[in-house]
Amino acid sequence: MTTSLSERLNQELSSLRESGLLIHPRVLERANRARTRVDGREVVNLASNNYLGFADHPALKARAEQYLREWGVGAGAVRTIAGTLRIHEDFERQIADFKHTGSALVLHSGFTTNQGVLGALLREGDLVVSDELNHASIIDGLRLTKATKKVFKHADPEDLRRILSENETGGLKLVVTDGVFSMDGDLAPLDRLVAVAREFGAVTYVDDAHGSGVMGAQGRGTVHHFGFEYADDVIQVGTLSKAWGGVGGYAAGHGDLRQLLINRARPYLFSTAQPPAVVGALSAALDEVQRDPSLMERLWDNTRYFKTELEGLGFDIMGSVTPITPVVFGEASAAFEASRQLFDLGIFAVGLGFPTVPRNLARIRNIVTAEHTREDLDQALAAYAQVGRALGVIR
Ligand code: PMP
Repeated sequence: MTTSLSERLNQELSSLRESGLLIHPRVLERANRARTRVDGREVVNLASNNYLGFADHPALKARAEQYLREWGVGAGAVRTIAGTLRIHEDFERQIADFKHTGSALVLHSGFTTNQGVLGALLREGDLVVSDELNHASIIDGLRLTKATKKVFKHADPEDLRRILSENETGGLKLVVTDGVFSMDGDLAPLDRLVAVAREFGAVTYVDDAHGSGVMGAQGRGTVHHFGFEYADDVIQVGTLSKAWGGVGGYAAGHGDLRQLLINRARPYLFSTAQPPAVVGALSAALDEVQRDPSLMERLWDNTRYFKTELEGLGFDIMGSVTPITPVVFGEASAAFEASRQLFDLGIFAVGLGFPTVPRNLARIRNIVTAEHTREDLDQALAAYAQVGRALGVIR
């Protein structure tokens, strides 16, 4: 008998429910700010990716309104047909200048950027070596290619060297890594990874979703942090949906990269261009981070303060060196219970368990932003101390 839709939905949902993986997202009832209202409760928000407070920033909203008035609601077509507006082109030049790269292209999200760029660049006979903890959009992007795929141990240049030395090819070799890893808050050791890649003539591809607007001078990214911004053998991709406050993705690098992507990246070719208001907000974000140095200063002051205090309380934050601050609770049930108790104390921070993170390293992931005040962070720290003691994670 053919499976009915009801049966399929029921099977799938039951299996998720039984394994405790059924998701019920909490609902924000106001803008995504450091303090907001979630499911009827006033909270300090440690769950967002709103690193610079741009999601509801007046300068971004002003330019979004301006572009909305001048350019309308929608781009009206895919970029290659009639959807390329002057503001798209100007914004892409702005990104290339900001990133110090030969060219840049903007896509609809960080997710589709990985699909578009990896799909456009790689062919049969090429070799891709990808960090084992890379983001789902990289994994999906690589599924779209016929290149040979290998996985290196997380942030391990020696394992990368082993794989590159065992897999010679006349095709393109691409080493793929996140710049900042979203679950642990650690950095890819780009200095050593790029050096190994170069020994074998490989190109390095860095997904800097959590590093862009966070790492490097004025938030220019992890590639800048390590000093590779002018290198033609390093491709920077990332999202415009986290620190930059809107939604979108970019690919920046070699002067000819943009031209290839315009011709080959399938999300670019077959999906309507970004709306003017979003382009306006994002272009204002790049201006604002350069105009107002206090944004980066506050992000990093808050990050240092929160991490130091959590460690002082006795929590394990997994050596994270970025605003992403995991707090380990061990079993998934403990992390989820801690998240519930924190919420009751007015702190919104999400618990993560297996299979998102390893079984015994279930955690709450906190993201500190420039918008948090000392009072916000102190309220969160007091709640952490109380919940950590109640659950026996600290003394
Ligand atoms: N890459 C990485 C490393 C990410 O963390 C994310 C966001 N979850 C993405 C890509 C996707 O970005 P976007 O939300 O813009 O699709």
